[in-house]
Amino acid sequence: MFDLSGRVALVTGAGSQRGIGQAIARALAAQGAAVAVADIEAAGAERIATEIESSGGIARSYVLDVTDERAVQTVVDRIIRDLGALDILVNNAGITQPISVKDMTLADWNRVMTVNATGTFLCSRSAIVHMQSRRFGRIINISSVSGKRGGGVYGGAHYSAAKAAILGFAKALAREVAPSGVTVNSVAPGLILTDIRGGVESEAEQCEISRDIPLQRIGLPEEVAATVCFLASTEAGYITGEEVDINGGSHID
Ligand code: NDP
Repeated sequence: MFDLSGRVALVTGAGSQRGIGQAIARALAAQGAAVAVADIEAAGAERIATEIESSGGIARSYVLDVTDERAVQTVVDRIIRDLGALDILVNNAGITQPISVKDMTLADWNRVMTVNATGTFLCSRSAIVHMQSRRFGRIINISSVSGKRGGGVYGGAHYSAAKAAILGFAKALAREVAPSGVTVNSVAPGLILTDIRGGVESEAEQCEISRDIPLQRIGLPEEVAATVCFLASTEAGYITGEEVDINGGSHID
């Protein structure tokens, strides 16, 4: 089950060495997909693509700033040319900023909204044209528990707003493209052990944070990746407009 052989996937923001994107790229490749590893930073994307290839997978690296409208279209076109298709898009690129609204500048607001929400829109728009023409596609967005319950320890209100926008966008897009066989779903992770917060917390800090999580631990990038692989699969073909919480029980609704 969940075999992705013959599929081509694009994962944005996948060059971060300990990030959720690299775990998703590796997991999709392990299931047989050819993976376009994209990131704003070339070296990171190249490293992950090389590591996937040395463990027997198929991967190519691409430099992609998801906020650059023209670059998004160019890279999507290149992936289709290089790898033959684009079946799976994972909108993973994202940034956060711990700041209160009273201290937030318009530039702070715009930066966080643009990378998280506008980037998701731009990549989805470029991918769906091709997906609809082939009558198959899987779009999976990485939202956040912050977008559902309102702020967390590490994200400001702009991050919550952007991640909530992604959920609304995904639901509307899911209805729009469903007749052409394309599904659109989101995952909403709680706290995951990555470097997005500027460096991994000390063990003492992790214990402190874990006390407030019903499953008593911080989540792993691989646990997000497993759900993304499922949503990308043929077997998940009747699931669309859905969001999956991966948060150890820290937000149950
Ligand atoms: P990381 O910072 O490890 O990875 C994010 C990656 O996105 C980085 O490689 C970053 O590059 C890249 N990136 C930043 N801006 C852009 C851009 N404009 N275009 C393309 N790539 C860009 O974070 P995570 O792996 O933790 O986060 C992945 C996703 O998961 C994000 O959307 C995040 O909001 C979401 N998430 C994370 C949670 C967590 O607890 N870790 C919880 C809930 C959701 P660079 O490092 O150079 O900035």
